Amino acid sequence: MIYFDNVASTKVCDEAIAEMNIMNSDIYANAGSTSGAGFEAEMKIRDAKTKIASGLNINLDELYITSGATESNNWAVFGISEANRKKGNHIISQHTEHPSVRASVLELENRGFEVTMLGVDSNGRINLDELKEAIKPSTILVSIMQINNETGVRMQTKEIGEIVKSANENIVYHVDGVQGFGKYDIDLKECNVDAYSFSSHKIHGPKGIGGLFIRRGVNIKPLLYGGSQQNGYRPGTPNSTGIVGFGAAYESAKNHKTKEENARQVKEILMSVKDELDGVYINGDVDNASNFVLNMSFEGVRGETLLHALGEREIYVSEGAACNGNGQRTVLNYYGYSSDRVMSSVRFGISRYSTVEEARITKEAIKEIVPMLRKIVRR
Ligand code: PMP
Repeated sequence: MIYFDNVASTKVCDEAIAEMNIMNSDIYANAGSTSGAGFEAEMKIRDAKTKIASGLNINLDELYITSGATESNNWAVFGISEANRKKGNHIISQHTEHPSVRASVLELENRGFEVTMLGVDSNGRINLDELKEAIKPSTILVSIMQINNETGVRMQTKEIGEIVKSANENIVYHVDGVQGFGKYDIDLKECNVDAYSFSSHKIHGPKGIGGLFIRRGVNIKPLLYGGSQQNGYRPGTPNSTGIVGFGAAYESAKNHKTKEENARQVKEILMSVKDELDGVYINGDVDNASNFVLNMSFEGVRGETLLHALGEREIYVSEGAACNGNGQRTVLNYYGYSSDRVMSSVRFGISRYSTVEEARITKEAIKEIVPMLRKIVRR
């Protein structure tokens, strides 16, 4: 099969599998147990967390392991807002966030917080002047993602940090970094980021494990209450197998020095279909996008139909983020595109293991299928 759905999830890499096998078969003790076996598990966890913390250039005590980025995002949004409520009750985010941020922020609105959702332009980016104007003395949290999961569009992470901190140093700046983490380096300090969410299964690690960076000194309430694990801020028996697999996957991602260049080549081949077929549009700002995500619309063809036709050839792409749906407005609606363009969109998720050859085969398949589907629709 050719798998271009790597934004939704990825194959677990060999390095992670090998490490997880050791954890499952040999080092399975509870890392909190005071036995020698428990200590061994604790050391493996520490080692994995150290890899992630040093890659992000943060302290070990600023890294919390969670069950994935949905939890990290919920925790950041609810935990930071609740802990800072005495300072103010205003939160700023934007419409094209992943549902785990958007729905959390909107739930806070139900609970009495004041929420400003910024819009985006047809390139998928927020207007920085609108952000400046939206900040008030009561603003306590700004949450804007690093890279959009449907189009790959990068938000202005550094500029947003500057604006937020020059308005008021006490505002907490949270970034959902899921689609950037392990692919693009980010200097969290330079970008003034106070909290950063990320996930393992987008970088060839296991599912159900992720992390949240919380800068020292940032006030946050726990989401879960229980034992003393992770300083009591995120209790629960640690998922040692998952954490160790995550650490190995992250290290492998860091070691893939050519991953970006490879993704760029793959993306360029996929994109070049627009030069050979009429009515193909790239969604979002091509010049400010991740090379690991490509979203294109094929005029006159439903994204869903193209997805199934490609699927018959064992080429797997996606119609949009797997977590969207339920008739909600989609990211592309917020870009202001026509409903035809939105309905005819397909997302390609590229990984460090995607090949130029796979991109060529996929492009040829699209060139055959799209004109056929257009003929059927016209009949
Ligand atoms: N944020 C973004 C930008 C994502 O792409 C995803 C995964 N679709 C998430 C958050 C949620 O991550 P997880 O699957 O680890 O809960």
